[in-house]
Amino acid sequence: MDRYAVIGHPIGHSKSPAIHSAFAAATGQILSYEAIEAPLGAGQFAATVERFRSQGGRGVNVTLPFKPDACAYATHLAESARCAGAANALKFEGDRCLAENFDGSGLVRDLSHNLGLRLAGRTVLLLGAGGASRGAILPLLRARPAQLWVLNRSAAKAEALVREFLALGADAAVLHGGGFDELAQSVRFDLVLNATSASLSAETLPLPARTFKPDGLAYDMVYGKGLTPFLRQAQQAGVRQLADGVGMLVEQAAEAFAWWRGVRPTTTDVIRRLSLPLI
Ligand code: NDP
Repeated sequence: MDRYAVIGHPIGHSKSPAIHSAFAAATGQILSYEAIEAPLGAGQFAATVERFRSQGGRGVNVTLPFKPDACAYATHLAESARCAGAANALKFEGDRCLAENFDGSGLVRDLSHNLGLRLAGRTVLLLGAGGASRGAILPLLRARPAQLWVLNRSAAKAEALVREFLALGADAAVLHGGGFDELAQSVRFDLVLNATSASLSAETLPLPARTFKPDGLAYDMVYGKGLTPFLRQAQQAGVRQLADGVGMLVEQAAEAFAWWRGVRPTTTDVIRRLSLPLI
């Protein structure tokens, strides 16, 4: 039987085995999918992957903190992984190891297919300048927003991140980086994406109510936390459409499944099963 796995540390919380098992059952694919906790420390991720490959592993998903290690381990990087400097899916083909990063495309697919948002011509605010934000920028730009602002607690980090994408040819009239303080003067945004990890520790971001458009969408990439402080802020600012990152999680998994198996599973039932009410 073809073997797949998700590798991270810690890994006990991972929903990937349940998601991929549901995809396999729904598409009639015969495979096994397990969760593997790699030890922390230099070379440990590569050693864990090598062991899995030698036991017949065909591919892995990669989660925190190993996404940059996955990029370094691979022999062939897709543009998504190269731009993000991180990979969340690997495929083994003989001696070759192919790397992809489906977080950003999973996000955009969730926004467009599941939440019905047309990104073209919209104003988009992306909060945070870590791995999730980095992976989201290229797929968001490809959806042709009118504006994409990347703002971060440490402004210099967002500015440096944006400079990288401008150097790759992004349009300076669309893409802008800076600090949260710019929100005092800024326009309202059609889409506000929280790609900071503040919700993991229930911290509130310094967002003026005028950041949000009531008929816009507020999206927290974190999942399984219910109504996060960020989503509550948006709700109090009058935003009617709120979403967490469960759809992004399931859509990136579906992208990886299709890449490995050549068949794309439907996601609606799995997203419904994993969703918590945002109350
Ligand atoms: P990183 O650690 O790479 O980056 C964290 C970011 O959050 C940095 O920009 C950091 O700012 C900012 N930050 C952290 N705490 C605060 C705070 N209290 N106030 C303001 N900013 C803060 O994390 P990731 O980018 O990997 O993950 C970010 C979020 O995205 C997490 O919640 C994660 O769960 C989620 N995620 C969801 C996925 C999904 O499939 N749904 C996939 C990947 C991630 P600074 O630079 O100033 O430190």
